[in-house]
Amino acid sequence: MTIRNIWAVGRNYGEHAKELGNAVPSSDSAPMIFLKAGSTVVENGATFPLPSNESEIHYECEIALRFGADLNFDGISIALDLTARQIQDQCKKEGKPWTIAKSFHASCPLGPIVALPSRDLQSLTFSLKVNEDVKQRGDAADMIHPIEKLRRYVLSTFPVCPGDLLLTGTPKGVGPLKSGDRLVAEIDDVVRAEWRVS
Ligand code: ZN
Repeated sequence: MTIRNIWAVGRNYGEHAKELGNAVPSSDSAPMIFLKAGSTVVENGATFPLPSNESEIHYECEIALRFGADLNFDGISIALDLTARQIQDQCKKEGKPWTIAKSFHASCPLGPIVALPSRDLQSLTFSLKVNEDVKQRGDAADMIHPIEKLRRYVLSTFPVCPGDLLLTGTPKGVGPLKSGDRLVAEIDDVVRAEWRVS
């Protein structure tokens, strides 16, 4: 299935919101959704370039879910919501959209899409290693807006297509990538992905 749209949620883990100096959203609030183009995807195993701007490109490791033909989730993977951090900070300051900071070429490395595990998605744990060092560890139980709430909200608000992805937010530990980095992301016992920065 073609990935036309990638619906992503910002600030869905309290400790990550804090590390960027943002207020922690209330679980009663609407999720903050932004879009990455489907054409930003980098396949599993691929080597990808960093954009040639001055901004640091941060990794944000996130559980990704795929909307199936009936718009229920039919697959799961692990993805990186790559972010041009200084450009994003500038956009925030000036009240501008985040597209330039979030939807640049090769800004969504994606693992293989596999069948949904039989256990509760909110019990999944995941991690990202950069050059063998564990940089991020996430626990879906810590999401401010749980997955089913995100699914219902996105479906009721946006023109979701079969094949689209939902990125569910990143835990704390984000940081910059550099040329030559080797990245391994996994949802424990479910899916493993790797990429390399050229
Ligand atoms: Zn993110």
